Amino acid sequence: MSSRDFDCIVIGAGIQGSFTAYHLAKNGKKALLLEQFFLPHSRGSSHGQTRIIRKAYEQDFYTHMMEECFQLWAQLESEAGVKLYRRTGLLLMGPEKGREFQLFKSTMERNRLPTVTLGPADFSQHIPNVNRNPGDGAFVDTTAGVLYADRALRAAQEVFRSLGGVIMDGEKVVDIKPGPLVSVTTASGVYRAKSLVITAGPWANTLLSHTHLHLPLQVVKINVCYWRERTPGAYSAGNRFPCFIHVEAEGAGHHIYGLPSNEYPGLMKVCYHMGSETDPDDRDRQMDRGDIDILSRYITRHFPGLVPVPAVLESCMYTVTPDHHFVLDRHPSHSNIIIGAGFSGHGFKFGPIVGKVLCELALGQVPSYDLSPFKIQRFSSHSKSAL
Ligand SMILES: Cc1cc2nc3c(=O)[nH]c(=O)nc-3n(C[C@H](O)[C@H](O)[C@H](O)COP(=O)(O)OP(=O)(O)OC[C@H]3O[C@@H](n4cnc5c(N)ncnc54)[C@H](O)[C@@H]3O)c2cc1C
Repeated sequence: MSSRDFDCIVIGAGIQGSFTAYHLAKNGKKALLLEQFFLPHSRGSSHGQTRIIRKAYEQDFYTHMMEECFQLWAQLESEAGVKLYRRTGLLLMGPEKGREFQLFKSTMERNRLPTVTLGPADFSQHIPNVNRNPGDGAFVDTTAGVLYADRALRAAQEVFRSLGGVIMDGEKVVDIKPGPLVSVTTASGVYRAKSLVITAGPWANTLLSHTHLHLPLQVVKINVCYWRERTPGAYSAGNRFPCFIHVEAEGAGHHIYGLPSNEYPGLMKVCYHMGSETDPDDRDRQMDRGDIDILSRYITRHFPGLVPVPAVLESCMYTVTPDHHFVLDRHPSHSNIIIGAGFSGHGFKFGPIVGKVLCELALGQVPSYDLSPFKIQRFSSHSKSAL
């Protein structure tokens, strides 16, 4: 094998591509991870200090994947010798009789997950400084917590390298030629491999266009807002404040979620789970602040201990599918091209499992999980010609 020939090439060194490369190397494969920007960077979806990890989901198939996922995160922690997870619990709130709250609650019950239900009487004792809506139900997924995202991404890449994996950053892929050996062209030359995994985040369709496939993906810019605590530490992880998700919050349209103050002392991250459409190469031109207005009103009403004007504003992108479920599948016309895309703003926690199943698909193995919810075929009514 020449230095340009690999068992597998992975395009995109976000969390999904980095974990795919990690699993390929663990399987003894010669793998190349290509990244358009110099690492680390903040122009995709995997940067930033924190993400929520939880088992609470509306669908069993996500909850089932999280069981092994927690173990794989712990394994990476011990391999890299760094702390990646802090248990805080996750408070789930929403109209008690509403569809979404009930879906979350019944998944927790069906799977017998450790849950603490908070009635109106004990809510303020456990969750101080939060105004609960009169009709809202609330429970805590006690195993949930915070993942240290930047650290986790670095750790997966370091373990991959330590196993002999090759990372080429600052190498944008400009062409893909499918075939029994797939050719991938960057400004530095052409690489070949028996299989290719595309985990390009918001750029998925740009890359897939070289293979004549277009997926119904919407790229949106997320305003990542941090809000100042009136009393520093009031909503901190140190004071045992949990992560939270508020579903169907006063007709906001999408979830509002938050993480306890931790990474920036005195500031709590509270975000709106949707944004405005953007071009990933031009995202700073998207200046829509409608989500920030929704959050300011929400914070005034529910978090009286926060100043309702964002103190820090960062940005990130979601790549959203019509049903908000991932794409984990083979290319419909080229079985040795594997696609991991459309993580719809909730994919980080699944990185170790996504990487595992994309690696299995790339090696022609039977995937460890039923991937039917993630098949490209489900979009056939959206874009028949493209499929
Ligand atoms: C504000 C925010 C909050 C979130 N909160 C949570 C949370 O609490 N919990 C959770 O589980 N998830 C969360 N997510 C979602 C999660 O972060 C994403 O699902 C995940 O990071 C997606 O990773 P990715 O590897 O698919 O994409 P990316 O991280 O975007 O990686 C794709 C990579 O491909 C590279 N690339 C693209 N084109 C090319 C090319 N032509 N050549 C070479 N390289 C290329 C890009 O530069 C990029 O590095 C959040 C996301 C955001 C934005």
